[in-house]
Amino acid sequence: MSFETLGLSKELLKAIKEQGYDKPTPIQKQAIPVILEKKDVLAGAQTGTGKTAGFTLPMLELLHRAKPTKGHHVKALILTPTRELAAQVGESVELYGKHLPFKSTVIFGGVKINPQITKLKNGVDIVIATPGRLLDHLSQKTIDLSHVSFLILDEADRMLDMGFINDIKKILAILPKQRQNLLFSATYSDEIKKLSDRLLNAPTLIEVARANISSEIVKQTIYLVDCERKRELLTHLINEGKWQQVLVFTRTKHGANRLSAQLEKDGITSAAIHGNKSQNARTKALDDFKKGEVRVLVATDIAARGIDIDQLPHVVNFELPNVSEDYVHRIGRTGRAGNEGEAISLVCVDEHEFLANIEKLIKKDIQKIALKGFKPDPSIKAVPVSMGGNRGGNRGGAAKPKGAGGGGRPSNRPRTSQKPNAGRPQR
Ligand code: AMP
Repeated sequence: MSFETLGLSKELLKAIKEQGYDKPTPIQKQAIPVILEKKDVLAGAQTGTGKTAGFTLPMLELLHRAKPTKGHHVKALILTPTRELAAQVGESVELYGKHLPFKSTVIFGGVKINPQITKLKNGVDIVIATPGRLLDHLSQKTIDLSHVSFLILDEADRMLDMGFINDIKKILAILPKQRQNLLFSATYSDEIKKLSDRLLNAPTLIEVARANISSEIVKQTIYLVDCERKRELLTHLINEGKWQQVLVFTRTKHGANRLSAQLEKDGITSAAIHGNKSQNARTKALDDFKKGEVRVLVATDIAARGIDIDQLPHVVNFELPNVSEDYVHRIGRTGRAGNEGEAISLVCVDEHEFLANIEKLIKKDIQKIALKGFKPDPSIKAVPVSMGGNRGGNRGGAAKPKGAGGGGRPSNRPRTSQKPNAGRPQR
């Protein structure tokens, strides 16, 4: 199937061609015709499946087909959980819509509100926003949503996880009742079901195979290693493999900072992005990474959402996420849209249960390697993983003399025989 058969106008086909896309991805094949029929949609699709174009292209097509109005009014509203994702979706809207006359703008917090007000005043057709800042604009009456006929919730599960449900309800209450709604979510939960019942009118369900990226395109490897030696192993892998662009995930913000600083000490250029960094610092880190000025970008899950880098060759889980779905999201950063990628996880004894849960989710045993010189010490017992504390990246990065042999025992950790999941918060 080609894009030409999907019913998109020549302006959009031209933009698609300029992007170099030959054929629609599975989510695009399914979603575009349904959205063009003006149906509500509940779509299960992860980052990396081409979902953004899956809703942006038909949205632009429908706006294009609609009767032209005088001036610019906000007709389409796209809500995203994070600033990065809003910016990324905003870029896609501009990119795919570049041969159409629509104006779009991105609205998120952490930056000055005045430039956003100016843009809105000048008139826009499409707004991509995070819920909090959108509500600020609504309360200041600097945005008019009375012409919205198209609402998209992108990564709705993340929005709920981040506690945006009340903000979303407030926004829904303001929107005109007559509109088309699309809800995109990587996972289904009772909360998503409730939200879709409230929001969607006889929706068409679309789902693309959930573990598609992780199990098929991305080569996955687990390196078994002691927690204290993770940083040393990471440096070794980066240097040996001559990796030039690596995205590394840590579980905590503090862990991200610390690992980034330690990599710099090892002579590997690195930057950290996480929720405590200013928007400018995040944008700069991402730009430097994209330009190749920084080899390693260390990120937490939330900060990494929405990072759009094509063909990212290596993704490393410095620590496994406690929520298995996050693993799939993380490795979806590599091997995007048909390009092969490699996802490497450094796993210590404390994380074996996380690993078992992940393998269950993706229905696959991941290849495990204990690298010579980094083999885990079997006498070390698991200790519970603390969430959000300063464990995680810190333990992995804890000072251990460089070049120490594989059998080295850590000296700075309590040794208990507790089960690895003891005290772990439930999701
Ligand atoms: P998304 O899942 O929306 O984050 O998209 C993942 C990546 O796939 C983006 O970098 C897009 O540029 C790319 N992409 C989207 N649609 C296609 C397509 N039909 N063919 C090739 N790449 C695509």
